[in-house]
Amino acid sequence: MQNRLPLTIDPIKAAQKRLDYTGVYLAKNAGRLSESVEYVNSDIHCSLSFGYDERKLCVIAVDAEVEVTLICQRCQQPFVSRIHVENKFSPVKSDAQIEALPEYYEPAMLNEFGEVDILALVEDEIILSLPIAPVHDSKHCEVSEAELVFGEIPTEEGKPNPFAILASLKNKP
Ligand SMILES: [Zn+2]
Repeated sequence: MQNRLPLTIDPIKAAQKRLDYTGVYLAKNAGRLSESVEYVNSDIHCSLSFGYDERKLCVIAVDAEVEVTLICQRCQQPFVSRIHVENKFSPVKSDAQIEALPEYYEPAMLNEFGEVDILALVEDEIILSLPIAPVHDSKHCEVSEAELVFGEIPTEEGKPNPFAILASLKNKP
């Protein structure tokens, strides 16, 4: 078991050696994830396992967890969410190889040096699993379900109410 996570790695060589890694990617190195959430609260805890399956395909098993702050789309307040991803990848060099990949593997693109950018792959996986419209648990949300159904639609501060604009247009001679 290796404790330093690779940023990039030759997955074929790693699979031949059946390498396993457990460690962290520092939050400050996850720039694209930072741009996708309000705040990255923790480092990315990650396990990687390289090997071959029964079809002799190279497999990269990824398990990663990170805590992030998201903004509730209902009440606009921040809340903390733990994101856990788990997936299996197989290295590919071309679109044809992606096509040929069994559907239970995700493609991991090899660069010109025959390596996979593992941090980018882990970041992509986490970003893809973020909720499209994050919302609180309803018991923690400042906007209750009842208000959502029966209440007025909250208007963003500073923006004129579209109904008020309509009304003023109607009143014009
Ligand atoms: Zn909320």
